[in-house]
Amino acid sequence: MIEARERTLKDDICEIIADEGPMSLERYMAFALTHPTKGYYTSRNPFGADGDFVTAPEISQMFGELIGLWAAEIWSQIGAPPRVRLVELGPGRGVLMADALRAARAAPDFFAAIEVELVEASDLLAAQQGAALAGSGKTPSWRKSLDEIPAGPAIFIANEFFDALPVRQFLKTAQGWRERLVGLDPDGQLAFGLKAEVEPYIKAEAQQGAILELGAAAHRLMTRIAARIVTDNGAALIIDYGYGRTDFGETLQAVKAHQFVDPLAEPGLADLTTHVDFSALARAAASTNALVHGPVEQGEFLKELGIFQRAEMLKRNATPQQAAAVDSALARLAGDGAGEMGALFKAMAVTRRSLKEAPGFAPATSR
Ligand code: SAH
Repeated sequence: MIEARERTLKDDICEIIADEGPMSLERYMAFALTHPTKGYYTSRNPFGADGDFVTAPEISQMFGELIGLWAAEIWSQIGAPPRVRLVELGPGRGVLMADALRAARAAPDFFAAIEVELVEASDLLAAQQGAALAGSGKTPSWRKSLDEIPAGPAIFIANEFFDALPVRQFLKTAQGWRERLVGLDPDGQLAFGLKAEVEPYIKAEAQQGAILELGAAAHRLMTRIAARIVTDNGAALIIDYGYGRTDFGETLQAVKAHQFVDPLAEPGLADLTTHVDFSALARAAASTNALVHGPVEQGEFLKELGIFQRAEMLKRNATPQQAAAVDSALARLAGDGAGEMGALFKAMAVTRRSLKEAPGFAPATSR
């Protein structure tokens, strides 16, 4: 007897398309990334050298430590509320939060005020976050969505989170903007196609062939965070790869084992991301009457926060080998060369309008 092969997420998606017709890229991305049992984040361990990609907190402890000190500073600027929720969206392996909390102990009043909240879709990663924070002196609460976090002052941190939120894509054709859909080709394989009807509500002027990516989930989330900051007090720090101005171009990419792969080839087995449209996030935040700081390049932000001084401190009692590792991490995080994150990644903060200057950013100009 031949045993049936286990059903993959791709089989499920193909069946849905066969039954219901082509689906939006947004729905496809949501399946591929956060399907409850077969999604990329919910079923795999993406991080590290033997995983699929490496993020800033995984490169060096300096990253999370500086963010912990940023949070301590902003907490005192917003009036040092005696209880503050330190909320991380998409904490991965929990490394950033562990480093941030260790650094935050240098500000004992802040450390005492913190309640840690982790917004995480994956139970697998939540377990790893729990292990990473076991000795941190804080017991985190896990939430599946932002709305579950109790009211009150909160500082939100999101590193490489917004890039994982699903987007819709539209192509400018001779007839107008048409949505790109994921359907089936004649061989039954997943393939991109175009919706028959034109989208009359998209007014953006662009050349034929231009692609527009719209992230409704990112917009909704940014709006909720900013509105909460305005009503309950707090701040947000968002770091991601992206661009400062809404532009036309395809940024959807799939990565597996540190290589780019076809985004439709293996849903659930490869990471899918798009570049974050920081100007769209800034507009969303400003629409709630919050104040937006930046975006600035990650390298600039980390230098403002003192990454050079932090690196010198770490090197003081280090072996030559350890010192070389600190220097190489410093270059990767703050350098602007090829393969370095300093210029590709951007940092943006959101506060109430009364806070004109946030650590790491030049004084905010009104939008
Ligand atoms: N911030 C971490 C991990 C980035 S990867 C780091 O810098 O290393 C993205 C993280 O967001 C993962 O933890 C993933 O499981 C989580 N995630 C992705 N989509 C999500 C969603 N829709 N809701 C909640 N968490 C999500």
